[in-house]
Amino acid sequence: MTTSYLFTGGRILDPRSGTLIDGLNVLTEAGKIKAVSAGVEAPADAVEIPLDGRTLMPGLIDCHVHVGAWSLDLWGNMVVPGSLAAIRAAKVMEEALGRGFTTLRDLGGADAGLSRAVEDGLIDGPRLITCGKGLTVTGGHSDLRTRGDNRPGLLSERVGSMGLIVDGVDNVRAACRTMIKEGAQFIKVMANGGVSSPNDPIHSIQYSRDEIAAMVEEAENAGFYVAAHLYTDKAIARCVELGVRSLEHCNLITAETAKKAAEKGCIAVPTLVAYEALALEGEALGLGAAEFAKIETVREGGLASLEIMRDAGLKMAFGSDLLGELRKYHCMEFEILARVLTPADIIRSATIIGAELCQMDGEIGVVAEGAEADLLVIDGNPLADISLLAGDGVNMPVIMKGGKMAKNELAMPDG
Ligand SMILES: [Zn+2]
Repeated sequence: MTTSYLFTGGRILDPRSGTLIDGLNVLTEAGKIKAVSAGVEAPADAVEIPLDGRTLMPGLIDCHVHVGAWSLDLWGNMVVPGSLAAIRAAKVMEEALGRGFTTLRDLGGADAGLSRAVEDGLIDGPRLITCGKGLTVTGGHSDLRTRGDNRPGLLSERVGSMGLIVDGVDNVRAACRTMIKEGAQFIKVMANGGVSSPNDPIHSIQYSRDEIAAMVEEAENAGFYVAAHLYTDKAIARCVELGVRSLEHCNLITAETAKKAAEKGCIAVPTLVAYEALALEGEALGLGAAEFAKIETVREGGLASLEIMRDAGLKMAFGSDLLGELRKYHCMEFEILARVLTPADIIRSATIIGAELCQMDGEIGVVAEGAEADLLVIDGNPLADISLLAGDGVNMPVIMKGGKMAKNELAMPDG
C-alpha cells in the first residue's frame, strides 16, 4: 500500500500557462494524483504536507540521457560485465532523481530491464523511456572502432554499449523489430557525424534515405517514432522530410529548416551543456585534438540555434546528453537555456514538451487529476528564478516519483 499524501497551502505551477495557481490542494493515491481542488476530501490515513506558500510543480523530464555511459571511455563501458553496467546505470538514475528528474528518456544503451527495475521498485530512480541501441552505419557516429579495427560490430548485446552497427534496408528493419520486441519505445538513429566518435566528421550524412524511411515505417507501425542524432542543417532537413519526429541536438539548424520542422510537428532536443562540459573538462578526460575541434564547431552554433528554433515556433524538449563524469554538470543546462529562453519556456521544455516525446502527454509533466504523482516542492518560484531548478536538488525539499517520496524534508518520511 502506497501512502497517500495531501499537499496543502502551496502554489501550483501550471507549465502550460506558465503561472502559479493559489488555493488548490493536491491528493496523491496509489502512485497517481487523485485530486486537485480547493476542497479535497482526504482519507484519514493521508499524510499532510503543509507547503507554507512553496511551489508545487511536476517532476522534471530529461529527454536525452545515456544512463549506461558511466565513463567517457565508451569502450570501457561496453566491456565490463553486464551486472556491473546495470548497477552503475541505477546509480546514474538515482542521482538524476535527486536533481528533480522524475523521468528520463535514454537515447541509446539502456534496455527495458532498467525501466522494469524502476517499475518493480528495485531501483529508486526516475521512470525510464528506452530505445535499445542507437543505430549507426559502419563508420558512423556510434561505430567506436578505429580505422585499423575491422572486428565485426560492437558488443551491442552488452548493457554498457550505446550503439548497434547495421547497414542495409532489410537489416535495419530487422534491427528495429528486434529492439521493439525487446521493449524499445522509440528508435534512435545516428543520421549525422558526431563529436565522440573517431572516423566521422560533423558534416557526414549517415544512412541512406531508404534506410531512414524504413526505420520511420517500422517505428510508426508499432506506434512509436524515430529520434535522430543531428547537427548540420542538411542532415536535419533530410530527416524532417523523411518523417523523423525527434531532432536531437540541432546545433547548426537554419530558420528555414526550423520552420519546416515546426510545421511537421517535430520536437527538437537541444543538449548544449554536453559541449560546455566537454570544453571544460574534455582535455583532462583524454579527448584528442580532432574531437576538440568538433566540439567547438557545435558549441559555437548552440545558442544561436535556440533563438532560431524559438523564433520558428519549433517545440524544444529539455536534454543534457552528458556522458560519464560530466553528468555532474546536469543542471547547468538550465543556466545555458536561460541565456535565450524565459523560465516559463524552459519549464515547459522540461515538463509538458518532454511528456509528448515520452508519449505520456497528460500522464507526466503536469499537476492534474489522473496524472502520475511525480511532484517537486520548490523553495520559491522557478517562473521568476529558474536557478531554483539548477541546484542539484538543493532548493527542492520534496521530490516525489510515482507517489513515493524520494526526498522529504517537510514531514516524516515514508514508513
Ligand atoms: Zn546522445
